[in-house]
Amino acid sequence: MMLNCFEASRLLSEAQERPLILRERVTLGIHLSWCSGCRNFRRHMHALRTISRGYGQRRDTDDERVGKR
Ligand SMILES: [Zn+2]
Repeated sequence: MMLNCFEASRLLSEAQERPLILRERVTLGIHLSWCSGCRNFRRHMHALRTISRGYGQRRDTDDERVGKR
């Protein structure tokens, strides 16, 4: 069974909320082994998660304000 990028990115998102079952982890792993786009997506998602955990909401508001100017 092959995943397309849409399914792979959906699984990557769901993996933040729940443990993936074995079949999902295997098919996702196969997809990531040849798809650099989804590997990048996964890296960005991990980075976003780390940032939001580390900086909190006040910093998010500040960043948004800076981005608009
Ligand atoms: Zn992909």
